[in-house]
Amino acid sequence: MVRVRSSLAQLPAYVPGRKLPGTAALAGNESPYGMLPGVVARLAELAGGVSRYPDMSAACLVDALARHHGVEPERIAVGAGSSEVCGQLLHAVVHPGDEVVFGWRSFEAYPILTAVAGGTAVRVPLREHGLDLDAMAAAVTARTRLVFVCNPNNPTSTAVGERALRDFADRVPDDVLIVVDEAYREYADPARVPDALGLLGDRPNVVVLRTFSKAYGLAGLRVGYCVAPAEIAATVRKTQVPFSVSALAQEAAVLALGEGAEVARRAALTVAERGRVTERLRALGLEVPASQANFVWLPLAGDSAEFTRHCLDGNVVVRPFAGEGVRVTIGLPEENDTFLALAASWRG
Ligand SMILES: *Cc1c(COP(=O)(O)O)cnc(C)c1O
Repeated sequence: MVRVRSSLAQLPAYVPGRKLPGTAALAGNESPYGMLPGVVARLAELAGGVSRYPDMSAACLVDALARHHGVEPERIAVGAGSSEVCGQLLHAVVHPGDEVVFGWRSFEAYPILTAVAGGTAVRVPLREHGLDLDAMAAAVTARTRLVFVCNPNNPTSTAVGERALRDFADRVPDDVLIVVDEAYREYADPARVPDALGLLGDRPNVVVLRTFSKAYGLAGLRVGYCVAPAEIAATVRKTQVPFSVSALAQEAAVLALGEGAEVARRAALTVAERGRVTERLRALGLEVPASQANFVWLPLAGDSAEFTRHCLDGNVVVRPFAGEGVRVTIGLPEENDTFLALAASWRG
């Protein structure tokens, strides 16, 4: 009898946002605006080349990212989505049984990837729907190797500010890796939410994670990256599954990076819609924490499953977290209208 690792037996599977034909997909935090214009045509051309392996070092993409962020290319490591980069970071620093600290609830990939890497997850409860950085710093022990700071936090949408983040980084020993996951950076108010690379990028134990899956409209192609101290990036590159970032993903990401103005325009549309959706939901008497992301969080606790079913009956797919709340991605204005009408008719 083959014995699989017992630590994986109890592991919950990742629950992706459901996709149902004919419904509004407000469960996956993807961009509702689709691919960027420059990317679509080029992908069709590139499809003819997939009998060949991609450039394993993703040199063009790494160079473009280095220029984009004003850092040396040695500081960049890419992966098949920033989820894979999370896993690579864990494999780079976690020995069996080492502790990995993160807020909870946060990105559901953290506990899964931690267990896969052989680490022990330490979940620190949120405070008022946000990361409790004081409690997270206090949870760091001699066994802690890595801390995930999801900012803004998925699924609760709130963000920590500059002072709190800097104080936190000051408190965490410099042999513990701080991974600031900025998957939703493009939707955050730069006056309120720090850019971790600018704030902490010169520290020897800080890594910033970014993705092309959200504002850049490439969720299905799988490409993300981190900016890290050069020695850490070098180790993270060793833990990548060879060729995990396809040639299509590499080239699409380079093109998408060149469309900053369009990315910003689309993000601004989403931010405006987020304001409208938040106000309307609050006017209905629902609690809605202030979102800095492309989704809102409804802390409906025991009503979460019923609310989700009500939305599904109205052809809108949202993402429930049983007993805790419902995450609703900001979609196209007409999709948001459909959702708002459902929220208004719930128990109405
Ligand atoms: C969506 C998301 C990611 C990005 O996932 P990809 O693997 O890049 O598609 C990373 N972190 C958080 C918190 C997310 O919500």
